[in-house]
Amino acid sequence: MGLSQLVLVSPHSFPDPVATARAAGADDILANARVVGSLAEALEGTVFAAALTARRRELAVPMKWARDAAGDIVSRTSFGDVALVFGNETVGLSNEDVSLCHMPVKIPVSAEYSSLNLGAAVQVLCYELRMAALDPGEPPNLESELATFEQVEGFFSHLDRAITASGFFHPSNSKRLWPRLRRLFGRIQLEKDEINILRGMLTAFEKK
Ligand code: SAH
Repeated sequence: MGLSQLVLVSPHSFPDPVATARAAGADDILANARVVGSLAEALEGTVFAAALTARRRELAVPMKWARDAAGDIVSRTSFGDVALVFGNETVGLSNEDVSLCHMPVKIPVSAEYSSLNLGAAVQVLCYELRMAALDPGEPPNLESELATFEQVEGFFSHLDRAITASGFFHPSNSKRLWPRLRRLFGRIQLEKDEINILRGMLTAFEKK
């Protein structure tokens, strides 16, 4: 399907002879896989991440169907690396994993049994991306470059420091604030210049 980069987060066993045998004609992609310790590390440098999940998530950004999402995903590739995040067969993705991504994406399936095997889910999404890439349409009209994962997380850390120091945020009694803030900022795709404006405002407030 034309994809070439594989990142594995804390694999049980890698390299593994079973995986190598199953990779058949794609063993080069497996051999060149980057192994990291956390999803945050895997997302470093990316400008967009889609979380593939069959489950409904409380306090998540609105979900998109795979076919609708494919156009968005392909169009973001003109701004930098885009991540497609899948869970493992046993536990899938945690809510925290989904909150690190911009868009939950679901492959339409029967309501009676919604969970596909990982390999099948990857294949269906990659097929939709292939179809969308063959008919890409207009690129999104953005004023500046998209912020990377680290820039957005840097803004969140700055905002966390500022709202804690100001007394607005008490981690012990407002557990739902951060999921809601991540959902708010996750609904929009922040650009680099916008992060600079927001952080500039925070710095100015912090001085008062
Ligand atoms: N037991 C796990 C199932 C994981 S299936 C759970 O309860 O979540 C393995 C992975 O395939 C999932 O984490 C997800 O990334 C992907 N997947 C499976 N079915 C999907 C669907 N209908 N839509 C989107 N992704 C799906």
